[in-house]
Amino acid sequence: MGQYVAPLRDMQFVMHELLHVEDELKQLPKHAEIDADIINQVLEEGGKFTSEVLFPLNHSGDREGCHHDKATQTVTTPKGYKEAYKQYVEAGWPALSCDPEFGGQGLPLVINNSFYEMMNSSNQAWTMYPGLSHGAYECLHAHGTPEQQALYLPKLVSGEWTGTMCLTESHCGTDLGLLRSKAVPQEDGSYKITGSKIFISAGEHDMSANILHLVLARLPDAPEGSKGISLFLVPKFLPNADGSLGARNPITCGAIEEKMGIHGNSTCQMNLDGATGWIIGGPHKGLNAMFVFMNAARLGVGMQGLGLTEVAYQNALVYAKDRIQMRSLSGIKAADKPADPIIVHPDVRRMLLTAKAYAEGARAFCSYVALQLDKELNHPDEAVRKDAADEVALLTPVVKAFITDNAWTATSECMQVYGGHGFIAEWGMEQYVRDARINMIYEGTNTIQSLDLLGRKVLMDGGAKLKKFGAKVQAFIEENGTDDALSEFITPLADLGDKVTKLTMEIGMKSFQNQDEAGAAAVPYLRVVGHLVYAYFFAQMAKIALAKQDSGDKFYVSKLATARFYFARLLPETAMLIRQARSGSATLMALDADLF
Ligand SMILES: Cc1cc2nc3c(=O)[nH]c(=O)nc-3n(C[C@H](O)[C@H](O)[C@H](O)COP(=O)(O)OP(=O)(O)OC[C@H]3O[C@@H](n4cnc5c(N)ncnc54)[C@H](O)[C@@H]3O)c2cc1C
Repeated sequence: MGQYVAPLRDMQFVMHELLHVEDELKQLPKHAEIDADIINQVLEEGGKFTSEVLFPLNHSGDREGCHHDKATQTVTTPKGYKEAYKQYVEAGWPALSCDPEFGGQGLPLVINNSFYEMMNSSNQAWTMYPGLSHGAYECLHAHGTPEQQALYLPKLVSGEWTGTMCLTESHCGTDLGLLRSKAVPQEDGSYKITGSKIFISAGEHDMSANILHLVLARLPDAPEGSKGISLFLVPKFLPNADGSLGARNPITCGAIEEKMGIHGNSTCQMNLDGATGWIIGGPHKGLNAMFVFMNAARLGVGMQGLGLTEVAYQNALVYAKDRIQMRSLSGIKAADKPADPIIVHPDVRRMLLTAKAYAEGARAFCSYVALQLDKELNHPDEAVRKDAADEVALLTPVVKAFITDNAWTATSECMQVYGGHGFIAEWGMEQYVRDARINMIYEGTNTIQSLDLLGRKVLMDGGAKLKKFGAKVQAFIEENGTDDALSEFITPLADLGDKVTKLTMEIGMKSFQNQDEAGAAAVPYLRVVGHLVYAYFFAQMAKIALAKQDSGDKFYVSKLATARFYFARLLPETAMLIRQARSGSATLMALDADLF
């Protein structure tokens, strides 16, 4: 069913030529030994594992889905999933970027990030099982007690046990302040937790020996709303002190959801009937602790968008070169055939280039953010760590929302390349469209990401974080502004930078008078910022490609053409978005709800 070849050349371009990852890592004592060879080796091995082991299960897993047995409350994953997970664990992949103190390999996140792109391209539904475990690892690593870390982290790092995040309840998704699950303290320091969670990804399955659920619940004396939420670690099997499995904890799967996509991932209703758990991060501090998980997951969801964009593009490209229909408008191109391959048609090219540009822009962007995360965690200079943390905070909602919105467009365009065959399950393209849709919804909908960007990350600190990122863009503009060859990229980048500054000030002023103004502007605003980021990276990539376009390596010719397409065809969307963002809340709020 189709193909997936890890885009190693472009990954290496981003790592070595665009971001100079090896030099950057030399500044971080923990990663100073990592060189280009190690990076390339891991990427090559990752490419083999994902394309040979995970990709062949993608379509079959989608068709088969998961099975829930009501009597035993167990979930069976699609054929081959469990065996693939065993191979993943045996090869040591779960430990890649984890702390050596707990059995990890200690590699930087920027490498792990690229591996996740490949896993998501190969099989998003399967990748969610280890993906959630990694989020649980991050959360426990940041907020667990030393005893909790000693008992649980080695199991997560080895992949022997997996993790989940249990936030959502039927009456509360976005607004976690409404949640009702209760946690009652016990004399031995544990808690008995009762409640019902829905939509829990990987909540129950047969791939690992134990599942560590991170559950949000309220203590009896909890204040109302989001200030009264605590986080608990609730294992499926209560571990003995030596890590062996003890009694079955009453946290069980009542049902799994029938859904639009990611059929290979179990989406579970989880019932907690006095399940034993242990608090993480202190009473009423659950959201703070959970944010570590949620931020990791948001970047992870961005990688899901990138993964699907890439694999959809690769397959649409093969199809467009093979499928013959009609003749080229500018004259016959394949005289030996009864018609020309559809890649001769301008609009088929537009669709392919849209996906190509969104994949390459996202790859540069995600790798950059992952590198900033490595700096935030490991740079010896506190000021550098703080700057990196600010950038990660600013850009995380953009990674999540911009990349997944684009992935929806890109997978849909790639499906369109197939004509009617794209709509037929046999070709596999419709699965990518279905799988891509959830990424805009979970981990905080893309609307919520936009509100987070505009409200919390930009307006709340008077635009300080945005200005810091803007200063980097400005430095690049000033450094290259006199280079005529680059003006086709620099001029629109500079123009958009000015417009973002003005737009931010205008929305800030308006929302000072009326908060609905921020709500009305947030979604187009995030897209405008997303384009500013992509324009910045495409301008840098174009600069490298321009210098090497005559090197004989066609990669640079292709990169330059993609950058030109991006600036000509995708970036101009910002003109419309800015008008939308400026149009204010009046037209949205004019109608009484009963007049809709
Ligand atoms: C397949 C799948 C897997 C999932 N996995 C997990 C998981 O592993 N763990 C977990 O805890 N949850 C999980 N979820 C839940 C997911 O995170 C929620 O569905 C999501 O956060 C939205 O919550 P909701 O569905 O209750 O929608 P609601 O919160 O009811 O939102 C409905 C609509 O209102 C909008 N809205 C709400 N508030 C505002 C506002 N202030 N301003 C503007 N618009 C607003 C939303 O953007 C949305 O469009 C999963 C969901 C699905 C479908």
